[in-house]
Amino acid sequence: MSKVHKIAVLAGDGIGPEVMAEAIKVLGTITSKFGTQFEFSEQLVGGAAIDAKGKALPEDTLAVCEQSDAILFGSVGGPKWEKLPPNEQPERGALLPLRKHFGLFANLRPSICYPSLTHASPVKDELIQGGFNVLCVRELTGGLYFGQPKFRKEIDGEMTAVDTMVYKKSEIERIAHVAFKAAQGRRKELTSIDKANVLENGLLWRATVEEVAQSYPDVKLSHLYVDNAAMQLIKNPRGFDVVLCENLFGDILSDEMAMIAGSLGMLASASLGKAKGDGLYFGLFEPSGGTAPDIAGKGIANPIAQILSTALLLRFSLGLEAEAQAIETAVRKVIDDGLRTGDIYSGAEGTRKVNTREIGEAISQAI
Ligand code: NAD
Repeated sequence: MSKVHKIAVLAGDGIGPEVMAEAIKVLGTITSKFGTQFEFSEQLVGGAAIDAKGKALPEDTLAVCEQSDAILFGSVGGPKWEKLPPNEQPERGALLPLRKHFGLFANLRPSICYPSLTHASPVKDELIQGGFNVLCVRELTGGLYFGQPKFRKEIDGEMTAVDTMVYKKSEIERIAHVAFKAAQGRRKELTSIDKANVLENGLLWRATVEEVAQSYPDVKLSHLYVDNAAMQLIKNPRGFDVVLCENLFGDILSDEMAMIAGSLGMLASASLGKAKGDGLYFGLFEPSGGTAPDIAGKGIANPIAQILSTALLLRFSLGLEAEAQAIETAVRKVIDDGLRTGDIYSGAEGTRKVNTREIGEAISQAI
């Protein structure tokens, strides 16, 4: 009998359950077309979990995640829970503990602008004609955000703030391997971002990435200083394939890339943790956007980010490349066919405005 892949399904709040329903439907189609078996365990998280069980990440939700091959996450939060103490709020109380518990050290955010959706990007059409597809690989657990010492206090009579940027060589090696492996499945071009002209961290980063590159002779490696990268990514996004960044630089550049791609409703995100062997990782897969309270409950949210996050799950946690590609190709086909949810609809000739369920069904049928 073929393996049954266990997936913890944490839909969360706002549009989370609406877009998750379409993602699960798409995985159902994968089962009928490929015979791949999934076992879904739906669990409460975020505001919904606070309301039902008093905390954003209940023990039974965490236990199910531990017993699963991967976590398919929706999004959490909303106005209802904004007055709670910060650590009890849905995002801080659920997502951050999940990242910590599973040591999710690599964040992968593909920034895809489809040829027929370049109008949704704020970048001039002539710079992005034909669209682009850049994968940002960001280190998630090191660098300036977590380095010690970290404090704010009076020194010599003046209030002073200190954050410390720390990277161990092993941390750089670990994220570089993820980026090189991802590049092998794409155009085989990796741009490593650093600030080696100013920072000791940058020197170690560059030297370590060069060393790791020896194991991937088929991938073309180049380096850019982060300030130059911020400019080049806007000027010529088509010139990039995989971009590798430390934590702070990746935080900033991945948002820049999301912005120039167009709608948040199209962008998926993967956070990878422990290597499972065979190049696979335990991971949490989610849309890049939030719970969109302004459109929640109306059935008009774009489910594509959630659907593409399942493709990332199949690729990085389950090693099901053919199935992942089938989902990505189906999304492209439906966009080419002119179906648009409100966030990407411009009224252009040959396009049709549809709701969450209609576009989800069209993607399922296109597989
Ligand atoms: P948001 O991403 O929810 O919404 C920003 C804008 O993008 C809104 O206009 C929204 O309608 C639109 N949008 C987002 N996803 C869309 C989709 N799939 N289809 C169509 N339009 C979409 O960001 P926000 O308004 O800053 O945050 C709302 C809530 O979500 C807050 O409570 C925030 O804390 C939470 N949030 C959660 C996560 C997460 O769970 N990972 C991430 C970001 C924000």
